[in-house]
Amino acid sequence: SKNTGKNQVRFYDDELEQTERRRQQLEEELSQAIKNEEFLLYYQPQVDSSGTNILQAEVLLRWQHPKHGVVNPDEFVPHLEEYGLIIPVGKWVLKESCRQLRVWQLAGRSQLCLSINVSANQFSHPDFIPFVEQCLIEHQVLGKYIELELTESVAIHDIPSTIKKMNKLQELGIRIALDDFGTGYSSLSYLKHLPINTLKIDQSFVQGLPHDGYDAAIVETTMVMAHHLGLTVVAEGVENTIQLDFLKKQECHLYQGYLFSQPLNVDKFSKLILVD
Ligand code: C2E
Ligand code: CA
Ligand code: CA
Ligand code: CA
Repeated sequence: SKNTGKNQVRFYDDELEQTERRRQQLEEELSQAIKNEEFLLYYQPQVDSSGTNILQAEVLLRWQHPKHGVVNPDEFVPHLEEYGLIIPVGKWVLKESCRQLRVWQLAGRSQLCLSINVSANQFSHPDFIPFVEQCLIEHQVLGKYIELELTESVAIHDIPSTIKKMNKLQELGIRIALDDFGTGYSSLSYLKHLPINTLKIDQSFVQGLPHDGYDAAIVETTMVMAHHLGLTVVAEGVENTIQLDFLKKQECHLYQGYLFSQPLNVDKFSKLILVD
C-alpha cells in the first residue's frame, strides 16, 4: 500500500543519515587517534629454514582504541586511505620503525632487519623518498636493514615513475618486496618491469599446501622462477609443519606465520630477540 511505501522511504532516509553520521564519527575518531598517538606497532618474526633464527620482522600497525582495545588494521587502514589519513600515519610508521630498529641494533641485534608495509597512496606522495631518507639519517639506520612491502597497486598509474622511485630507494640500500604475490591480475608483468628484490608468497597459497594441487603448483613454480631471477622469497601465513616442510623442499628463504610466532607488541618482541 501507499502507507508502507512511505514508511520504506523514511526508513532508508534514516538509514542513510545514520551511515553518514557513523562515517563522520569514524573520521573524527581516526583524526583524534593520530593526535592522541593511539597507534602502535606489532612485530612478526621472519625466520630462516632452521626455524630458530629471527633475521627480520614485519611491522604491523595496530590501533589502541580507548574503548575497544587493540584493533587490527583490516578494520581501519581502508578508512585511513579513504580520508587521506594514511599519509600521516604511514609517516609515523616509518619513523617509529627506524627509531625502534636502532634501539634493537644498539642492544646487540646489529643485523636485524624490519620489513615495513607502504600503501600505494603513501608511495605515490611526492615527499615519500625524501621522508624515508630523513628517517634513515635521523635514526642512523642503514638502508640495507630496511625492506618496504608494496603491492602491485603501486604501479597502476605510472610505471616509469614507480621504477624511478624504486631505483632511488635501492640506491639507499633499501630492499623492495612485492607483497601478496600472485593475488593480483598481473603479478608476472609487474615482476618483469619493476626492480623487485623479494617476493612475499601470499598466505592464500600457503594455506592449501601440500594437498591442494593448485596451491602446490603455484608455490613450486614461484619458487623455481624466484631462484632463476635471484629473488628472495618469504612465505607468509605458515601455520603448520606440513606447510613448512613443503616450503623447505622448495628452498624458500624466510618463513613467517603463527607456527613461529604471532605478531608481538614491542615488549614481547624485545624479550624474544634480546634473550641471548
Ligand atoms: P599483510 O601485509 O598481508 O600482513 C600479513 C597479515 O597476516 C597480518 O595481518 C598478520 O597478522 C597475518 N598473519 C601472520 N601470520 C599468519 C598466519 O600464520 N595465519 C594467518 N591466517 N594470518 C597470519 P594484520 O596484522 O591484521 O594486517 C592486515 C593487513 O593490514 C596487512 O596485510 C597489510 O596489508 C595492512 N597493514 C598492516 N600494517 C600496515 C601499515 O603499517 N601500513 C599499511 N599501509 N598497511 C598495513
Ligand atoms: Ca605485508
Ligand atoms: Ca602479505
Ligand atoms: Ca595480505
